[in-house]
Amino acid sequence: MLLHFIFLVTKEDLESRTEEFEYVQQMALFYKKWLKDTFSVDVDVQADQMVVPEQSLVRRLDTAVLVEDHKSRGSDVFHFYLSNFRPMWTDCTCEGYYAENFAMVLWVKPKDDVLSMCQKNCTVVSHELCHEILRQKKIKKQYDMIHDVWNKHLFKGSDFAKYGKNFEPNDSQPYFMTLDATDLRS
Ligand SMILES: [Zn+2]
Repeated sequence: MLLHFIFLVTKEDLESRTEEFEYVQQMALFYKKWLKDTFSVDVDVQADQMVVPEQSLVRRLDTAVLVEDHKSRGSDVFHFYLSNFRPMWTDCTCEGYYAENFAMVLWVKPKDDVLSMCQKNCTVVSHELCHEILRQKKIKKQYDMIHDVWNKHLFKGSDFAKYGKNFEPNDSQPYFMTLDATDLRS
């Protein structure tokens, strides 16, 4: 399976957000390893940017536009959109949404600390990735299992899993952060 991350960026931001896109490219490689280690799932990964118009009342992007984009690119590829808007509707307890071979999250634009915002965005990516991968594995209770783990992170002080730039677990110098998938492994 090909897992294709697509980073939505406005034309105005294209040059100023290269650091984030570099993070996204590394994150794609990180998730290739993480999915293998965590769920024994083999994926090829790709990361690209997609230039989109500024969100406005007249030109509003929404989830349906991304689903259409996914279909036009080929629905046999798992497209994961790192979006500049939140999903209009979702069952999730984070700002993300998933469907068959499709996921999107609101990728929050950093104000000053680029790395820490990227790490935070990375955790939301892991949430939606887990949904779709476990759905594909036909794990019936995946929805509740993932939301239980997520609630522990948000409300019970459970730490996110931390990994270094070399993709290995690293609590002291984290670069990537994911939900704790210990209870989700199959
Ligand atoms: Zn969810």
